[in-house]
Amino acid sequence: MAQHTVTLIPGDGIGNETTSAMQRVLAAAGADINWEIAEAGAHLMEIEGTPLPESTIEAVKRNKVAIKGPVTTPVGTGFRSVNVALRQSLDLYVCLRPVISIPGAGGRYDDVDLVIVRENTEDLYAGIEFEEGSKAAAHLIDMVQKTGAGSIRPDSGISIKPISVTGTQNIVRYAFDYAVKHGRKKVTAVHKANIMKHSDGLFLREARKVAEEYADKGIEFDDKIVDAFCMNCVIDPSQFDVIVFPNLYGDIASDLCAGLVGGLGIAPGANIGKDYAIFEAVHGSAPDIAGKNLANPTAEVLSACMMLDYLGEMETAERIRDAVRAVYAEGKYLTGDIRRATGSQEPGCTCTEFTDALVAALQK
Ligand code: ATP
Repeated sequence: MAQHTVTLIPGDGIGNETTSAMQRVLAAAGADINWEIAEAGAHLMEIEGTPLPESTIEAVKRNKVAIKGPVTTPVGTGFRSVNVALRQSLDLYVCLRPVISIPGAGGRYDDVDLVIVRENTEDLYAGIEFEEGSKAAAHLIDMVQKTGAGSIRPDSGISIKPISVTGTQNIVRYAFDYAVKHGRKKVTAVHKANIMKHSDGLFLREARKVAEEYADKGIEFDDKIVDAFCMNCVIDPSQFDVIVFPNLYGDIASDLCAGLVGGLGIAPGANIGKDYAIFEAVHGSAPDIAGKNLANPTAEVLSACMMLDYLGEMETAERIRDAVRAVYAEGKYLTGDIRRATGSQEPGCTCTEFTDALVAALQK
């Protein structure tokens, strides 16, 4: 295979463990990757004054392809989310998350095969927020009152939910193009258009328009209100194929769908734009198990397989996926998250032992 230079952002929390495991697996599979390491995370605040140095963004731009571990985003502080900042600054407008059953991984179903396509730059994730008591919040509250749009309590904090025609068309087109390219049968748009008429309503309206553009491609289109989607997906995930979401619902649905197949430990993902792509597991930094060699590296390894596909190295990616399936099917080396998902009382293996098993499966 050709050599590829890829930016590796290990992140923090379990990121060092999962990305090191991923590197070992790719090396064992013969993937010729020249890793260029770049840093991101809370630990840089003291040295760099930011969790996301400009040099890291530049490194992604230079190589165009990156893979990262998780980066902690503390809840409710002024700390900017590195993940959201990267997606916005590189216009990685697609968040792609295939959810596929792996026999032996403790999933609730054996036949889940769906793809989450989440808009990645807008919605309540846009980061446009006004602090309770601030001048700007007061101004906005006053403006809302004056326009007759409604009233907001004066002691409110406010987050803005922008959903644009451009953003919606881009993400829905991506979902349809993906469906066409991968021989998928149906695209479902998920929304809450009955309540949020001007944001989710716009999303549904534009999704329907884009669906018409693809009418001759033989791909079915339907839509679901997000709460009904959640219930239906838990009852029978096989009714879904490619599912396109605005940002926040896509975030929540990603964890829900990961839960159907065994949990966050096996859920891979990618953030893709027109010029750059960053591959990363769905899970966060899992501080409760960080540094204990207990993390499940499968999600990071499968994210790397998506990266290899993107780089045109499908054969290597498929060999790694075969090895992953073999290790789960054998069931001898499973990390604690998967043991719990399968209802087993046995202790989980370490991240290192699981990775050893994967490497051995590749060498068979
Ligand atoms: P974030 O808000 O940063 O996305 P989160 O709230 O989704 O994070 P995670 O850190 O993703 O939380 O994970 C929640 C829990 O799931 C963790 O505390 C951990 O117990 C478990 N978990 C997540 N990823 C893994 C993994 N790769 N291996 C084992 N357990 C994991």
